[in-house]
Amino acid sequence: METPAESLFRAEVAQWLQAHVPERLRHLTFRPHPSEGMPWYKQLSARGWIAPHWPVSHGGMDATPVQQVILMEELARAGAPDIPTQGLNHIGPILIECGTPAQRARHLPAILAGNVIWCQGYSEPGAGSDLASLRTRAVIEGDSLVISGHKIWTTWGHHAHWMFSLVRTSDGEARQHGITFVLIDLKSPGISRRPIRTIAGDDEFCEVFLDDVRVPVTNVVGEIDGGWKVATALLSEERLRIGSPALALKALLRLRRLAASLPQSSRTDELLAHAEIETETLIASFLNVAEAEQAKTATDSSYLKILATETVLNILDALQEIAGEDAPIRDATLTPHGYLDYSEMFLQSRRLPIYGGTNEVQRNIIATKVLGMPATRRRQ
Ligand SMILES: Cc1cc2nc3c(=O)[nH]c(=O)nc-3n(C[C@H](O)[C@H](O)[C@H](O)COP(=O)(O)OP(=O)(O)OC[C@H]3O[C@@H](n4cnc5c(N)ncnc54)[C@H](O)[C@@H]3O)c2cc1C
Repeated sequence: METPAESLFRAEVAQWLQAHVPERLRHLTFRPHPSEGMPWYKQLSARGWIAPHWPVSHGGMDATPVQQVILMEELARAGAPDIPTQGLNHIGPILIECGTPAQRARHLPAILAGNVIWCQGYSEPGAGSDLASLRTRAVIEGDSLVISGHKIWTTWGHHAHWMFSLVRTSDGEARQHGITFVLIDLKSPGISRRPIRTIAGDDEFCEVFLDDVRVPVTNVVGEIDGGWKVATALLSEERLRIGSPALALKALLRLRRLAASLPQSSRTDELLAHAEIETETLIASFLNVAEAEQAKTATDSSYLKILATETVLNILDALQEIAGEDAPIRDATLTPHGYLDYSEMFLQSRRLPIYGGTNEVQRNIIATKVLGMPATRRRQ
């Protein structure tokens, strides 16, 4: 049950979105190009709703988890387009927690205003789940790091201005030692990028090549050689945000629309009821984890990442089932209840169990860190 203040907030958000989400960007099946999407980002920012989970002292809303969910629900209902989130959800919160005052002053306002797009340079060919085996190297020369290596699967890397990245600065006894977390200006000489097309036909990510790229030592977050701690704190925050119900709400909306446009059937009713219950379960779980995190109570977001991503997959599987022979249609189709994409979001959702750490790896984390089961022995 919402409190009267929460209901008021919902009404205010719904009314504002109804009036301001640009018509041509509503219910898109893909994230719009920055030239179209960033003006919307800036509008949301000017309204003060771009960073609900950031503290007010850094330009956020200090929104309660319930307010955060209200925003997500209303954004989904209004068909608001996806915006880039690596700045808002990944590097922003980490700079608030571990950045220097100079790093915060330089980067946080630009993220909030939508003047800068960030990307995440963790994965490399041969270093995904086994991230600590990364081979991009940095040598310290005076007050610079000189970086060479190759990053891959970098979401929106070809649109980004800055990349937060992990580089090897020394070979410690354990592979997690000797890794440094660094902020790289993508205008620096020595950087080239190559977009990668996904199964859904969009170019969501790219490869980033670094060839003797000079980065000031002042761009290191945390300690040189001590970046693993920062990297894993960021991954935990990333899993919490991937674990939000935002995507499930969008998928559910599509399923509701399709169900409403078809003749009544008990199978459709059953699939729809199941999807509604799963989404409510996800919302409750997100509230639980987000509240624990706000209260600084120890928690693990791995199960939330699994729950959120598998809920979306289940809803879109249901959509494919009831779409019947229309399931493979690629272009959005006009139904009596608005535009509907049958296969676009389905294809895009194949990536969900992979990014942010695969769901298999999240299950390993739950087994070892939450349930205390023995870890498989591996090379250190
Ligand atoms: C859409 C998308 C966007 C992405 N965006 C970014 C980004 O912006 N920045 C970035 O740095 N990376 C990004 N990634 C990369 C992502 O983090 C990696 O793909 C992921 O961590 C898996 O690594 P890998 O692809 O090397 O697969 P691998 O690690 O080679 O894994 C292959 C398979 O083996 C399984 N596996 C591996 N190890 C274990 C184990 N110990 N136990 C059980 N199963 C295991 C995995 O679950 C997987 O099924 C993105 C990926 C996708 C799909």
